[in-house]
Order: sequence, then structure tokens, then C-alpha cells
Amino acid sequence: MTALLLRNIRPYGGASVDLLIRDETIAAVGPSLPPPPDATLEDGLGCLLLPGLIEGHTHLDKTVWGSPWYRNAVGPNRVDRIENERAWRRQGRHDAEAGSLALARAFLVNGTTRMRSHADIDPEVGLRHVEATVRARQALGGAMEMQIVAFPQSGVVTQAGVEELMDAALRDGADVVGGMDPCAIDRDPVRQIDALFRLSQRHAKPLDIHLHEPGEMGAFSLDLILERVEVLGLHGQVTISHGFCLGMIPAADRDALLARMAKTGTAIATTAPAGTPVPPLAICRAAGVTVYGGNDGIRDTWTPYAQPDMLDRALHIGLRNALRRDDELDWALDCVTSAAAKGCGFTNYGLAPGSRADVVLVDAETVGAAIVDRPVRRLVIAGGRIVARDGAMVTG
Ligand SMILES: [Zn+2]
Repeated sequence: MTALLLRNIRPYGGASVDLLIRDETIAAVGPSLPPPPDATLEDGLGCLLLPGLIEGHTHLDKTVWGSPWYRNAVGPNRVDRIENERAWRRQGRHDAEAGSLALARAFLVNGTTRMRSHADIDPEVGLRHVEATVRARQALGGAMEMQIVAFPQSGVVTQAGVEELMDAALRDGADVVGGMDPCAIDRDPVRQIDALFRLSQRHAKPLDIHLHEPGEMGAFSLDLILERVEVLGLHGQVTISHGFCLGMIPAADRDALLARMAKTGTAIATTAPAGTPVPPLAICRAAGVTVYGGNDGIRDTWTPYAQPDMLDRALHIGLRNALRRDDELDWALDCVTSAAAKGCGFTNYGLAPGSRADVVLVDAETVGAAIVDRPVRRLVIAGGRIVARDGAMVTG
């Protein structure tokens, strides 16, 4: 049994306490804890303490992180980006495992200890990207608790064999059933949604459906999804990623959908992009809907933007939703901590005794200051082990 005593740290910026970790678990939190004789001592120097940050929506398998800059000359539409990515992969220079591992390590250095990553499945890549993400997860040796989504980027019912590939992925390592714009991509929403829920029921695994579709079209898809959630009683089992339509449709229609999402525990994953209407955070929270955050792709053939840092994503959520007050900035942090744990179904989360010992120390006065300044992380502990210090991985 190993013990680690963190002294003089301030949970969420509050009063100074100590935190005792035994093996992989937080054993005690309180002022001036007596050091056990076998404990390693670590002086927290009054830093802000947060639970390990959570990336709720990313695509490790697409990134060029750790590789030369990708020169983006892609057309303006989503289908252009999908086709460009497939053409680029055919050139054979993309190593999904190496990119996934490099990016996941960068996330760890910045205090992210849990993650949901979507892995492409289509007739060309087959299961290669799911398998590459599984190997990257294994290479991290348990430091990162990672959920892998079987993600049909190019569609389900219009792409030969994709449902069967998703079935195999869910049997062999994927944790979540993905989906993609049932109207816009497959042009047959009922068949796609039926296929996704069939897979979810067969494997008893949750769903996370990308829904970029605008306005009325997106609301129609969302209504079809919620109808199945209600009929099947899948409370707390479904995430709608993006849900841009909720930022576009009339308020009465939006509120009716949000009420059904709250009642069924259907969550929203938002990336809070600058250029598109988004589900309004304050209104979603007031309606009782769980909203959590993610970067989506990071430095890939789709976008040059984003950082493997969930405090940075919290900043974007704050900017996009015009959050100014400190209690509102707490919502932005919630999106990358507790709300993400709830929405993704990560258990043993938080700073209370009994939680998995995932914590990050930040040299900041308050939560708001941590989000706005995004300082280098002083210390990152994952599963009870120190994995990073002062912005660098700890070797070994
Ligand atoms: Zn995505």
C-alpha cells in the first residue's frame, strides 16, 4: 500500500486543507491531517485543487498532434471535410495510434484524467481506428480512464457493412454507440436511429449522437431520438453532441425539447464553437439538462484549432455563452468536471474520500482565474500516481 499526503491545497479555491491518497483512492480530506508514517509528502504551496478534468468529446484518432503542421485547403462544407479526410488517409501517412497517444499524453499533462473519444468507422478504415485508440488507451497504463465511441463518420445505413463493423467494435473494446446526423448524412433518419438503438440494446451500452443538423431538421431528428429514449426507458443513457438546432429554433420549441431531455436524463455535449449557434448553457441548466464540454477534433484535417486543455475549453464555453460572473464561471468548470462525469457515466469522481485519486493542482487564486489564465499545471495525479509536474510528464 502506498500513501501520498498533499499538504496546503485549496479545493476549488476555498480554505487550505490536506488530502491523503492511499493507492488509487482519496482516503481523507481535511485541515492539518496527521502524516501517516509510510506517506510521501508533497507541499501544495496553497495551489488551487481541482478534480481531474474531463474531455467529454474529442477525436484522438483524427489528430496530427506530434506531426508536422497540416496545411488546410479544404472546401467549406462538412461533406468536403469528410471527403478530404478520407482522401488524405488514402495517402497512408496517418498513424492513428501514434497521434492518439501523443494527444492523450498532452491532455494528461494538462490535468485531464478521463476522456470520451470518438473513433471513426467506415468501409475504408474498418475497425483500424477503434483498434488504434484501444492500443493508445492500453499504452497509457490506466492513467487515463477513456471511453471509446464507435463513430460512423460517413453514415450508417448508406455505407455498406457499417452496422456490422459497429457491432464488432462494441464487442471488442468500444464503450459507446456513436451516431451522425440521421437526416443529413444518411437521408433516412428512422433507419439510422433504429440501427443505433438496436446496437445499444444488444450491447447494453450508451449512445452519443453527433447532431449538427440545423433548425427544424435537427429538431426533427432530436424528436425521433427522444421518442425512442422515452419508449425504451433509457434514462441517462444518451448524449446529444453539439445539438446546434437548440440554439436556432423558436424558444417554445426548444424548451419543449429541453423538458423532455431533462426528464429522460439526456445530456448535451457542447464544444461551444465560435461560428455556430449553440445550446444556450444558462437556459439548458435552468431546464435541468446536463451540459458538458469537449474540444471535438484537435489539430486535424478538419480544424487547425483547439488545445488538449479542458481549462481552455472552459474558457471557450464561457466566451460563447457570455459568462462573466464568478458563479457563472463555475458552470464552465462544471462542464469539464462534474457535469462531464455525470453525462459520460464516469463513476468514483470528485474530491470526496472514496473517489478515484485524480486531481490537478493549479497556481491560481480562484476557479475563474484558473479558467481565464490557464496556468501551467503544477501537479497532476491520475489513479493515485503523479503523472505530470510543471507542464511535463513525469518519466517512469
Ligand atoms: Zn465530434
